[in-house]
Amino acid sequence: MTSNKNLILSFLSILLLTTILGVTSIYKMLDLSKITEDMFEHPFIVSNAIAHIEIESVHIQHKMHIITSLEDVKEIYNLSMAIAVHHNNAIDLYKLIYERYLGNIQDIDNSYNAFLQWKKYRDHIIDMLLDGSNGQISVYKEKESNYANTLNTKIDTLRVFANNKAIVYNDNAKNSKKNSIIIVSILFILIGLISSIIALVVLRSSARYTENIDRHFHLIEQNINLAKLDTDFNIAEVTESLARLFSLEKGDLINHESNLLLGSDEKQIKEMKTALRSGKSWNGEIHIENVAWIYADIKNILDSTYKIIGYDMIISDITSKKQLEIVSVTDGMTGLYNRREFDKNFNQRLSLAKRESNTLVFMMLDIDHFKAYNDHYGHQDGDKALKAVASALKATFNRPDDAVYRLGGEEFGVLFTANNEQGVEEISQRVLDNIEALNIKHEYSSVCDHITISIGAGIIDSSNTQSADKIYVEVDSALYEAKDNGRNRYEILTI
Ligand code: GH3
Ligand code: MG
Ligand code: MG
Repeated sequence: MTSNKNLILSFLSILLLTTILGVTSIYKMLDLSKITEDMFEHPFIVSNAIAHIEIESVHIQHKMHIITSLEDVKEIYNLSMAIAVHHNNAIDLYKLIYERYLGNIQDIDNSYNAFLQWKKYRDHIIDMLLDGSNGQISVYKEKESNYANTLNTKIDTLRVFANNKAIVYNDNAKNSKKNSIIIVSILFILIGLISSIIALVVLRSSARYTENIDRHFHLIEQNINLAKLDTDFNIAEVTESLARLFSLEKGDLINHESNLLLGSDEKQIKEMKTALRSGKSWNGEIHIENVAWIYADIKNILDSTYKIIGYDMIISDITSKKQLEIVSVTDGMTGLYNRREFDKNFNQRLSLAKRESNTLVFMMLDIDHFKAYNDHYGHQDGDKALKAVASALKATFNRPDDAVYRLGGEEFGVLFTANNEQGVEEISQRVLDNIEALNIKHEYSSVCDHITISIGAGIIDSSNTQSADKIYVEVDSALYEAKDNGRNRYEILTI
């Protein structure tokens, strides 16, 4: 945040300096052109005009010299006309000087008056020449040439001033040029310096930024289980950490024929896909058989038009937690749920059945003459037989809502829902058949030469308000009835 602020500040200062540089350059250029213009407007034009006045006055002097030696009136007249032209030219030049001269106006007045005075004497001489009265001409001639000389000194004053002014302007122009070069150069160097500093800061901060990104990416890649799924729920990307969880290479996990991350519970996968496709997120526990238990939080990835373009999956490995959970709810020997879990579930299932008006069935099963089996075949074979019976029960009760428990010793419990008594009878018979089908030899049973089981089942009406303990006792009594009635049979109660 701070580095961004600094960057913006630096760019703003460069912008400011560049603007100053631009404005200064334009200002200096205008200044220089103004000085050049001034030089042209003032000293240059004025000195030029003065030079021309001098030329005109030399012409006049020269023509005045010739005119005094002429006798022909016409020639005198013509030359006097030529002198008048030079005079008028000089007058025009004086006008120009009046307009442009930057010095003391008195200096121009002095020169101009002298020029006009000179004309008086010239006109006098010309008049005398035209009249042919040449008596005092030499006196006037002397005065006339005196005025011509006076005029020259007055013009000189103007010229010196104009020349000096030109020198001053020239010096100014030179100084201004020097100053412009210095100022523009300083600004240029400053801009260069600040640009270099900014470039350095940008480079350094971008290097630091890349370093941070790399570090974060590495941390995520190695420690967080992330996956990206495409819209068909195929794996598009995974982190190294996730691949490690599966003991696979990233590529192998991505290219695996099925999406391992979704597990194998079809019902759960369907629910998940429906939720995600409808724009909701999904989270829950997924069992990836023989690999892990994961907790997945799946969210939609949307494009700018809010169209789903894939899914982000954040995964936690909950295998250890799940294993502990499983150990705490299962019976170590048979893998069935244990008694504690039964006590917990029984109450929950009773409430649920009431709420949903379902018929819950609690079935109790007890192996017949198992003490005798143990006594004759030994405890180890007894354990084997117990495990076989447990597996058979698990295989028989395989619907999602069915739950099989080892209630203790060689006694089992099953919770399941049923539509009617006939269904319960059918499943009870199937259990008896499946246990017999195990064909576990039991020569010391009074019932049969193979292991058999007795069943007591209670069909619990959803309106039943009895406590779990009471129901338990009732079903237990049904089991005993089955025992009393000869074993390898079932007794069904409606409670
Ligand atoms: P009934 O037909 O009346 O049920 O006769 P039973 O012999 O099965 O009845 P009882 O309850 O007297 O005997 C249960 C026997 O189950 C006692 C014990 O030897 C055996 N048993 C209980 N738990 C285990 C076990 O974990 N492993 C083995 N091998 N035997 C067990
Ligand atoms: Mg028994
Ligand atoms: Mg028993």
